[in-house]
Amino acid sequence: MDAFICVTCGVQQVPSERLPSSCRICEDERQYVRLGGQEWTTLGKMGANGHRIELRDLEPGLTGVGIEPSFGIGQRALLVKTSKGNVLWDCVGFIDDAAVGAIRSLGGIAGMAMSHPHFYGAMVEWSRAFAGVPIHVPEADLAWIQRPDDGVRPWSGSLEVVPGVTLVQCGGHFDGSAVLHWTGGAGGRGALLVGDTITVVQDVRYVSFMRSYPNHIPLPASQVRRIVDAVRPYPFDRVYGGWWDRVMPSGGIEAIERSARRYLRWIGARESE
Ligand SMILES: [Zn+2]
Ligand SMILES: [Zn+2]
Repeated sequence: MDAFICVTCGVQQVPSERLPSSCRICEDERQYVRLGGQEWTTLGKMGANGHRIELRDLEPGLTGVGIEPSFGIGQRALLVKTSKGNVLWDCVGFIDDAAVGAIRSLGGIAGMAMSHPHFYGAMVEWSRAFAGVPIHVPEADLAWIQRPDDGVRPWSGSLEVVPGVTLVQCGGHFDGSAVLHWTGGAGGRGALLVGDTITVVQDVRYVSFMRSYPNHIPLPASQVRRIVDAVRPYPFDRVYGGWWDRVMPSGGIEAIERSARRYLRWIGARESE
């Protein structure tokens, strides 16, 4: 049996004899089935096709984890390194022995968490490669898990995974959409790792908030305000989005507040909404 991986979103399914009939992540209105129809691959095929994991040092204590050549929606994960253990934030739809060896040499992984179900990738393979480390999944998004596993640990609200590394549930894009606050980031000024719970846009001085990015479905004012309220208590300067080039080097909460004001103005929100 193979655990098939959706070529469009990169999320791995439960092992099966036959190809799954559809991908629930891609059938949802927030994603899309690629032109030409549903397609599946496996870790073995991807390795044979030349896919590999690329690690990039982004700043002291932070390593990016991406797939080369780009696969699925092209996100990269982030490994936050601390003296109390490393946390893998977000996931990708591939893993191989070389990546496991390289990450072991960086101290391994003590816990994993994803911003939202589009970035679940091959999370079970990642957890098992590191002795079954906990996969922290928000209670609100448990139903989106495509490959259940004993490593999954439900949480809600907020959760400190290791000292100085805290998950914060914001909702919006998905009910369980979360960010990771890292106190040691940006030279001690703090960093917020956001996936696309809050998305760093091409003009990296700004962010945006959407129910669906590929299908351009906006969020209502109440949810945009709730996201900003959820992150406001945490000090941070830098914001790491879900892709290599989506990083706001500095600006922190002021930039997010300014982005939210612009968004609310253009969706015609009134102060009371
Ligand atoms: Zn899919
Ligand atoms: Zn998404």
